Amino acid sequence: MSPQRTEAWLGLGSNLLDREARIRGALAGLRATPGVEVLATSTLRETEPVGGPPQGRYLNGVARLATTLPPHALLAVCLELERAAGRVRGPERNLPRPLDLDLLSYGDLEIDTKDLVLPHPRLLEREFVTTPLRELGFDLARVRAPERPRVVRRNRELQEACTRWHHGGCTIGLVPTMGALHEGHASLVRQARAECDRVVVTIFVNPLQFAPHEDLARYPRTFPHDLVLCRDAGADLVFAPEVAEMYPAGFASKVAVGAEAEGLEGGARPGHFSGVATVVAKLFALSRPTVGYFGRKDAQQVAVLRRLVTDLGFPLVVRECPIVREPDGLAMSSRNVYLTPEDRVAAAVLHRALSAAAAAHRAGEGSAERLLALARERISAEPRATLEYLELRDDVTLLPLPRGAAVERARMLVVARFGSPAVRLLDNLSLAPDA
Ligand code: AMP
Repeated sequence: MSPQRTEAWLGLGSNLLDREARIRGALAGLRATPGVEVLATSTLRETEPVGGPPQGRYLNGVARLATTLPPHALLAVCLELERAAGRVRGPERNLPRPLDLDLLSYGDLEIDTKDLVLPHPRLLEREFVTTPLRELGFDLARVRAPERPRVVRRNRELQEACTRWHHGGCTIGLVPTMGALHEGHASLVRQARAECDRVVVTIFVNPLQFAPHEDLARYPRTFPHDLVLCRDAGADLVFAPEVAEMYPAGFASKVAVGAEAEGLEGGARPGHFSGVATVVAKLFALSRPTVGYFGRKDAQQVAVLRRLVTDLGFPLVVRECPIVREPDGLAMSSRNVYLTPEDRVAAAVLHRALSAAAAAHRAGEGSAERLLALARERISAEPRATLEYLELRDDVTLLPLPRGAAVERARMLVVARFGSPAVRLLDNLSLAPDA
């Protein structure tokens, strides 16, 4: 039985060296490849470069092929022809190149793998591709513009998307959030974008981590804005389930947490970390990420989740990302929008107090009591702040320091309330010498 012939479309481009000769050479190379037939080529046109550093104009066109090669084999042929034409592929995108062969579509195939996405995700955005495609009679209406990021609300949809990516050899970065996104969240998404092939952001205000008297009902919800932020930071998929999707009738299992969850937030908010661990465990199970991204702003949460990953054997890396702050030092938080303008100004006292303790420590102060007293004094000088807790803990495990231990690798953690109804703000700073 002869293998099936499939129609495939290729984008052709060059803006270095003898451009037309490189493209003609590639077409000759394709014609000489067993299993590849070049059925038609478009006019080659001069186009302006899109993105990247200043560079010369491109010569662009497309070719219509019939091929018996599977898509990844055809891609390998293209990469080899690019290499033979003198192209060196590095991590940087949109650099000048002697030859660009882009596999635009392959029959009706839709795939999303590490090195090949079909139809090409930017096919409809590029005039230098759409014009020559039209010239050769390609039906652009049959290509759906990809939704970016794709939004899914069902567990099954998240599972299926991630399974496809796993099968396509992709690593997955997961950024769990409760929405009302700001630059702090964006920094996590960008980090995931830089390190992983695919990025999933979850937006779910998790009732399990709120006590009945807390702000679940009035927690800020800004979904349209969140989507723009996710898109700009490079998310591929946003998972935004309803409560009944995550916790349907009969849902009964909860993750118990231990020493890491004692005191601090765990003391002030009983049940909070069990709720966090439960939802995050479920998100890990649904998406099976390669890396989970969490902010150091919630330092105790990171300690609890590291313990969860170790104890339950989730095969992933926990990445802890630095705190993103406003210009006056206030840690960014979704709850900052609750602050009155006066309290917003006053709230910067928390970072000033922690920084003063860190500076004193750097200058040689080794007594935990004196460092805590110094920070406490700064905060009590701000009448709008009501201190809830101020503690020194181990910098990494966040467990209590042994009594009388020298303050070496410690982290100072603070929570204070501002205004009425009270807005609780968290902050923390490492006092470790290399922090
Ligand atoms: P939330 O939506 O408040 O549950 O936060 C989602 C994730 O974003 C958590 O891992 C937080 O620690 C992280 N995050 C929140 N605020 C900041 C910030 N200012 N800097 C860095 N990460 C943050």
